[in-house]
Amino acid sequence: MVSGPAISLVIPVYNEENNLKVLMERIRPVMDNLKKSYEIIFIDDGSRDGSLAMLKDFSNQPYVTVLELTRNYGQHAAILAGFSKVRGEIVITMDADLQNPPEEIPKLVRVMEEGGYDVVGTIRKGRKDSLFRIMPSKIINIIARKITGVGMTDWGCMLRAYRLAVVQRMSTCHEHATFIPALATYFGKRTTEIVVAHEERHGGKSNYPLRKLINLQFDLIASFSDFPMKFLMYGGIAMSLAGVLFGTLLAVARLLYGAQWAAQGVFTLFAILFVFVGLQFFALGVIGEYIGRIYREVRKRPEYVIEDIYSAGDGGSGE
Ligand code: UDP
Ligand code: MG
Repeated sequence: MVSGPAISLVIPVYNEENNLKVLMERIRPVMDNLKKSYEIIFIDDGSRDGSLAMLKDFSNQPYVTVLELTRNYGQHAAILAGFSKVRGEIVITMDADLQNPPEEIPKLVRVMEEGGYDVVGTIRKGRKDSLFRIMPSKIINIIARKITGVGMTDWGCMLRAYRLAVVQRMSTCHEHATFIPALATYFGKRTTEIVVAHEERHGGKSNYPLRKLINLQFDLIASFSDFPMKFLMYGGIAMSLAGVLFGTLLAVARLLYGAQWAAQGVFTLFAILFVFVGLQFFALGVIGEYIGRIYREVRKRPEYVIEDIYSAGDGGSGE
């Protein structure tokens, strides 16, 4: 078997037709200047625009491989699909929308090699996103760090480097709802974080509307911790204790001030009841989320299906 290249780039693509050309134009010189062998693996995650056609075109260029998935499986599943094909000693993931500047790749490679790390994480400097997008991530970063016990500063930045061994270990995890940077902390011993630049999205719009963002965060929390369930349990105990206390209080007041007083408390009780009913629905929702995820896991569907692979081969003859 021929040994793999020094570096593999893994780039998931979902409706990025406006960015791919510039992305490629910026990646090439960076990779060529590194003077190391490399491969670029694009994963078309069921794009509905011209992305796949553009990627197929790229696949005629040297060192480019394109995986076409059968439908949209989500960013992390797409990356896992890419991981199943990588051969590079250092594997680097990045976004296709140029929010992760390709010019930062050499820095990752250098830190990786000089420090002998298994994982090099990143922290975005001067993040270029709307406040509406930054605020939820800020909160998520704090919560995620607290409850998962994974000491990562910036959870959202996908420009990261992993040793091949770590990637191979991650590939053995057949989880649907996964979050790759967090997963990596389970499989890599020596990890570090460096600061990298962040840019505005080159073209198109973010594929993460609030709904998807919330879902991803739930994936993260549900697959790495049972905090929501614990929270429910302790919250439930505290709530019923408070209820007992309140009931006692009402009973005492009823004895002291008579039935007249208690009847006037009816509406207060209603108000409190509604709060509790709301909380119960919330609790059911959380449980439902878990059950839904368990169901997805037990169905054992593949996390992704590769429809086709396009590559001109290592020589890049462009035939
Ligand atoms: N992406 C993907 N599948 C999806 C959503 C996103 O492969 O279902 C890719 C997308 O093409 C981009 C990266 O994941 O390369 C990050 O997506 P996006 O820029 O929309 O996320 P944001 O920067 O807003 O977090
Ligand atoms: Mg983006």
